[in-house]
Amino acid sequence: MNTNTVALVTGAGSGIGAATTLRLLDDGRQVVAIDRDEEALHAHWNDEPAVLLTPLDITDETQVEKCFEDLASRGAIPDRVVNAAGIYRSGSVGMTSPDDVDLLWRVNVHGTYLVTAHATRHMTRGAIVNISSTAAFLATETNWAYGTTKGAINSLTSGLAVSLAPRNIRVNAVAPGPIATPMADVATRDPAYAERMHDRVARPTRGTPEDIADAAAFLLSDRARWITGQTLVVDGGLTVVR
Ligand code: NAD
Repeated sequence: MNTNTVALVTGAGSGIGAATTLRLLDDGRQVVAIDRDEEALHAHWNDEPAVLLTPLDITDETQVEKCFEDLASRGAIPDRVVNAAGIYRSGSVGMTSPDDVDLLWRVNVHGTYLVTAHATRHMTRGAIVNISSTAAFLATETNWAYGTTKGAINSLTSGLAVSLAPRNIRVNAVAPGPIATPMADVATRDPAYAERMHDRVARPTRGTPEDIADAAAFLLSDRARWITGQTLVVDGGLTVVR
């Protein structure tokens, strides 16, 4: 692995994380591709020499810590990080189990924090992008638990931006609207979500993972050098249509 321009992407085995990995490879970077789904990592990236396959669960601090220690020992600490791994669960307040709420928080918030905390123990400069969601701003009867985790991501993003600014590390978020990925396929099985969200998007109905990858790549690039602590909404107009 050429260690000059290393990026790290979580959730690199599917959807937005996979599209972002491809976008960063196109930009000439080497990518440390993290996902708990080892098969999906192999299916996407087996033949790509610039990708370091790294199967791990972002909620397991031992695994996360070891990953960064291994990268440090190879001199391959990333200076760009994209936290795209996440899960979706839906259900009205009474119908959502505490275990589901706990899992959402562990993966979407604590997992993002763990990767960022261990990455920034080693990083000396660079940029981080967290993947939030318009669910942080737009509630349905059934997306509230997921939405709270994404609201937390927005706050985590601005807080980390302030904490890490003295170390020349920028932190931003991208908040996608409905994007055609396996996760959105699960979400659209919920009729309330489909009706209230998808029908409101200006055009087209759903974005692509590449739409989010392009926004993330911009925020990671030096062209965004004076942008930090922000959440960029990329949603085809979802949040501005009445
Ligand atoms: P996806 O399900 O296609 O991909 C998510 C990937 O994360 C999967 O490969 C999964 O294995 C991995 N992952 C999940 N938990 C993990 C863990 N504990 N450790 C390591 N890897 C783990 O989903 P996607 O649509 O690409 O979503 C990516 C991000 O975008 C998520 O944070 C999601 O909340 C956010 N998002 C998606 C949409 C959408 O419409 N698809 C909209 C808004 C925000």
